[in-house]
Amino acid sequence: MAEDYQMLPGALMKGKRGIVTGVTNHQSIAWGIASQLAAQGAELGFLHVPGQERRVTPLAESVGARFVAPADVTDDASMDAAFEVARATFGTIDFFVHAIAFAPRDQISGSFVENATREGFLTAMSVSAYSFVDCCRRASALMPEAGGSIITLTYMGSERAIPNYNTMGVAKAALEASVRYAARDLGPKGIRVNAVSPGAMRTLSLAGIQGGRAMLAKGRSLSAMKQDTAMEGVAGCALWLLSDLGRSTTGEVVHVDAGFHIMGFTEDETAEG
Ligand code: NAP
Repeated sequence: MAEDYQMLPGALMKGKRGIVTGVTNHQSIAWGIASQLAAQGAELGFLHVPGQERRVTPLAESVGARFVAPADVTDDASMDAAFEVARATFGTIDFFVHAIAFAPRDQISGSFVENATREGFLTAMSVSAYSFVDCCRRASALMPEAGGSIITLTYMGSERAIPNYNTMGVAKAALEASVRYAARDLGPKGIRVNAVSPGAMRTLSLAGIQGGRAMLAKGRSLSAMKQDTAMEGVAGCALWLLSDLGRSTTGEVVHVDAGFHIMGFTEDETAEG
């Protein structure tokens, strides 16, 4: 529930309406972001994978959601119907949160070269990267002349080769490039497009990755701050990018990982040399 997290109350999002995807349970990063947006006065609509309404609806209702609708990003008809619900409810939207990723299990374990299949690779790309472009097209069509803000969630496995992350890392690299191209296209309309790149966090998606626990432990021990990534930190970054505070920032990938991505050698590694 929203009270699990220490979200900053205020009115930064008062009068703003938007769509949040990717809420599966209270551990979902999208839920942390939705909780923070609601605490700042945003009106929210939620899109979820068909069949998940029983899990998503209680969470959505706890923050006064205006609608909860099914949307499978691999199915155009499902996306058409979901965005029609958003249009009928809100008319226009000011922001959109894309927090969706999937790769078949064999694509996120073991050897990247040996395990990458055409089908698995394309599935990861379709759900985790192409879906973002499709959402940008649909969300931007609902944004008013004043513009809006779109964010997605990525991971440092796009920039560096992380054990087991494999095909998902390639999909995240495509996602981050898509952020830059979408920012360029939509910038003249006043629509900003950015990515938040959290460190490893304990969610269902992480549990699906072989070695997910090690990613969490290393994310902490190898970070500059020697801390886990806090949900409040990720949600705060999303709030900055989605609110008017972020008005001149677009095309960025912002790391929120307690300084994991900036680190070079560990003390142990230099001592060995
Ligand atoms: P999560 O709670 O499992 O969220 C992933 C979401 O993607 C789920 O709600 C899932 O729905 C949805 N999804 C999968 N296939 C879909 C489809 N075909 N259509 C619509 N939605 C679909 O895990 P999370 O960690 O919060 O992930 C959110 C985002 O953060 C992802 O992009 C992930 O890569 C990124 N991220 C996560 C971490 C981490 O360590 N956890 C770190 C950096 C970035 P169902 O569960 O209902 O299938």
